[in-house]
Amino acid sequence: MDGRLVPGAGGAFETINPATEEVLGTAADASADDMDRAIAAARRAFDETGWATDHAFRARCLRQLREGLRRRADELRELTIQEVGAPRFLTFGAQLDAPVDDLAWFADLVEDYAWERDLGRAEPMGMPSHRRVVREAVGVVGAITPWNFPHQINLAKLGPALAAGNTVVLKPAPDTPWCAAVVGEVIAEETDIPPGVVNVVTSSDHALGAQLTRDPRVDLVSFTGSTATGRNVMASAAGTLKRVFLELGGKSAFVVLDDADLRAACSYAAFAGITHAGQGCAITTRILVPRERHDEAVEITAGALAKLGAGDPQDDRTICGPVISARQRERIEGYLELAVEDGGAFACGGGRPEGRDRGFWIEPTLITGLTNDSRAAREEIFGPVLVILPHDGDDDAVRIANDSPYGLSGAVHGGDVARARGVARRLRTGTVSVNGGVWYGADVPFGGYKQSGIGREMGVAGFEEYLETKSIAEGV
Ligand code: NAD
Repeated sequence: MDGRLVPGAGGAFETINPATEEVLGTAADASADDMDRAIAAARRAFDETGWATDHAFRARCLRQLREGLRRRADELRELTIQEVGAPRFLTFGAQLDAPVDDLAWFADLVEDYAWERDLGRAEPMGMPSHRRVVREAVGVVGAITPWNFPHQINLAKLGPALAAGNTVVLKPAPDTPWCAAVVGEVIAEETDIPPGVVNVVTSSDHALGAQLTRDPRVDLVSFTGSTATGRNVMASAAGTLKRVFLELGGKSAFVVLDDADLRAACSYAAFAGITHAGQGCAITTRILVPRERHDEAVEITAGALAKLGAGDPQDDRTICGPVISARQRERIEGYLELAVEDGGAFACGGGRPEGRDRGFWIEPTLITGLTNDSRAAREEIFGPVLVILPHDGDDDAVRIANDSPYGLSGAVHGGDVARARGVARRLRTGTVSVNGGVWYGADVPFGGYKQSGIGREMGVAGFEEYLETKSIAEGV
């Protein structure tokens, strides 16, 4: 906070390894007064320093942050595996290395971006004028983040927000305070980022997030989390008419067309669906398969899920580790019960894996026999639980995929790529993968249609979320 590492006025709270339930240590537990001071520091840094206008300095600072995090990559990798329960293989991608590397893209963007556009002279209403359009930072950003991909989400907010010239108060999820605290430590100790520009406020209390959404000194709230909380954030931010940028939940469809290689598609759907125990907003959790090949698809998918299993996140081969907390495990188990009440059956899984007495575990699970209007098929479960549904051709598959309050992501697999691409274009979602294509990248905008969010993260579109537009006309 304000360039210094300070204890929380609320004391400290424990952070726990979800694979073992072992207490890893404690994090500073900030109070409402701490949050107040953090917002004041961010406000001061924005209003009273040259941070917002010195583009070259910001680009340099972002590169220092990237280098500082890279130097601590080994320590951060172990921390991420232990605090998040993230499988080791993912830390070489979206759980750590990719978002750290992506900071370079935002540093380059600061230097390449057209901050000013000259519209030239005109004579509106007979008054000769020279018009310019200037892009500038919004001000103080309140960044509120979840626990599932903490580095990716923290850095996908810090990177563009800082590149644009904003100052930031980052409030991470109570389950993963260390991942954010280390970023704060690197900023304070290894970069020239001025005091107050980034404040990382860890807390066990969700109320500190709500405080950020209400405070009139905060200009923009950049929130990633559940749709239910997103609604509260938007309502609360309305009091001071802040800009809100929301990345929310999903229930994305994996569409297998009738000309697809069924074995390859269903095996991939199993792998994609339970990566990080299904704790990804963009994970495809509804598998839509041709009705005439439904039973075969169930057999392939269930076989693949059973083979992948749930395992120790420290192991290089693990795809599906634990879920984050006992609370989250209970929530998932509630959906498993609901699925059975609604007439569903488990083609594999459906409970806790044998032999894991410590930690928060759910077996990779495939639910059959539901319709798209049952709760387990409609709502975000956020665990290694997939629902398989039959479709009657491309139009029906599109209809089922789009019959959802969410619109975050999706996938289409088919033999004829032009046809698969055509189906992809009809999905009402912010991203779509065709035949295994990966849309993730610093330059690729990511975000949701419908109740999956407002705005885009990453890419130039994501950067521009953090900018204001000012038009200046000079009388000539
Ligand atoms: P959550 O909504 O419970 O919490 C997210 C953050 O909001 C936490 O930091 C929390 O402390 C804070 N918070 C809670 N109540 C608040 C309030 N009233 N006002 C302000 N802040 C508040 O979500 P979670 O359980 O941490 O994360 C899982 C959810 O995040 C899933 O729904 C998932 O789909 C979603 N998610 C979305 C994306 C995306 O980019 N679309 C990415 C990752 C996760």
